[in-house]
Amino acid sequence: MKESWDLIVAGAGPAGCALAGKVARRGAKVLLLEKEQEPGLGRDWVVDVARGTFEDAEVPEPSPAARWNEPASTVLVSSDTAHVIELPPSPLLPVRNGLYVGELADWAVAGGARLRAGCTAKGAVVERDAVRGVTFSGRDGKEYTAEGPLVADCTGMPGVLRRSTPGAWGMAAPVGETETVLARREVWKIDRKAARKEVEAGRASDGRRVDRAGAYGVYSIQTCYLDIKGGFVDVLVGVKPGSGRKGADGLFEEYMAGLPYATEKIFGDGGPIPIRRLLSSPVCDGMLVLGDSACQVVPAHGSGTASALLAADLAAGTVLEALRRDEYGRAVLWEYAHAFMSGRGAVLAYYDVLRLHTDNITVRDLDRLIEKGVLDADLVYSGLLPEPPALRPSRLARQAYRGLASPLQLIGFSLAGLKAERTRRHYRRYPESWSPESFASWEQRIP
Ligand SMILES: Cc1cc2nc3c(=O)[nH]c(=O)nc-3n(C[C@H](O)[C@H](O)[C@H](O)COP(=O)(O)OP(=O)(O)OC[C@H]3O[C@@H](n4cnc5c(N)ncnc54)[C@H](O)[C@@H]3O)c2cc1C
Repeated sequence: MKESWDLIVAGAGPAGCALAGKVARRGAKVLLLEKEQEPGLGRDWVVDVARGTFEDAEVPEPSPAARWNEPASTVLVSSDTAHVIELPPSPLLPVRNGLYVGELADWAVAGGARLRAGCTAKGAVVERDAVRGVTFSGRDGKEYTAEGPLVADCTGMPGVLRRSTPGAWGMAAPVGETETVLARREVWKIDRKAARKEVEAGRASDGRRVDRAGAYGVYSIQTCYLDIKGGFVDVLVGVKPGSGRKGADGLFEEYMAGLPYATEKIFGDGGPIPIRRLLSSPVCDGMLVLGDSACQVVPAHGSGTASALLAADLAAGTVLEALRRDEYGRAVLWEYAHAFMSGRGAVLAYYDVLRLHTDNITVRDLDRLIEKGVLDADLVYSGLLPEPPALRPSRLARQAYRGLASPLQLIGFSLAGLKAERTRRHYRRYPESWSPESFASWEQRIP
């Protein structure tokens, strides 16, 4: 059975719901496909999102029910917990991803988008070198085709539509194991008496979030936020596949088994996050790629919610313009590509160079960076937001000199900072308009 739409969006996560809602609200006929039985199902982890994001992306703020508790204070500690950096009040708002995605999906539907949950996108329909629709399996298990001049791949990590396009288009790049982080974040009820005992014994802190960097390898995090009055503990484990031997789920279980006060799970889930460099071109004729599917994630720590919402805002403007002009080629969709890549994309690419540099350092080096104050509150927060780095090469060199004794490490760290800055500037010069020549020339010159 074939159906016709102005825009078909595959994946009702933050990117897909925001895009579908924005475009439908302007009167376009939008289909939103989601493989789960409802949007947000199985994805109820807490995401920390920079506070201004919802306003900047012009999407509804999370309702009070979709917000999560904020710790009174946050510290970053070294892997051996010997060194502690006190962080100023957090610029991030904790949000329950599953509940917020449900709210965004309701907003999209109220705006006129047609949501089909329980429908799995199988691939892009490609005709005459352009995407013209999506094939999907319905709730009844039958195969369907939805046709339309514009398609958006918002399927997250699997990138189902972009991965089905011809290799020559340059959009089908896989996400390798080393470019993935596995994360699990759950909130558990606690036995308050047992928790107080742990605090008295100095084995836990009350009301304070403790982020332990390098707990399971250099690119890993273990976060614990105990709130005795609130009656919960909020735990996150993030690890690269292989580096933690047991994966995020096994390590998470092991960590929870060591918390004598944690009694039962309240909510939480886990999944993979792509941390590779963002796709060089997130558009082709008839298709836009957004969010995790385009690897628009802060590579240094795997945060992608803000990017997904901001990309949706930019993409919505471009989609509406394409519909108005009745032109759907890459040249028209390039407006979104240019706006994202030369703005937020440049900052993501900067942090990708730093992420790659962590492959060359050890947990001991990371501990020293924290001990010597090279990794300080400014640097941590500029990475979290993310914003153009507080880390200028000269400052980096000075700090690295304080933190790293080995001249080789010092040189490596400074070079990584310089390369990151060069990369950021290169992305700022992303071609303003599409031509195969200008894009190829830009891509070849990526530092
Ligand atoms: C445990 C954990 C903690 C995290 N913490 C943070 C954080 O603190 N801050 C932050 O910014 N980010 C965080 N992230 C990452 C963040 O959740 C993602 O970057 C963000 O959700 C990306 O949004 P998206 O819309 O691009 O993709 P997704 O959220 O992955 O949504 C994709 C949607 O597409 C659907 N789908 C997939 N395949 C198909 C198909 N074939 N057909 C139809 N539908 C399909 C999925 O079911 C899903 O609903 C965390 C991730 C995890 C796993």
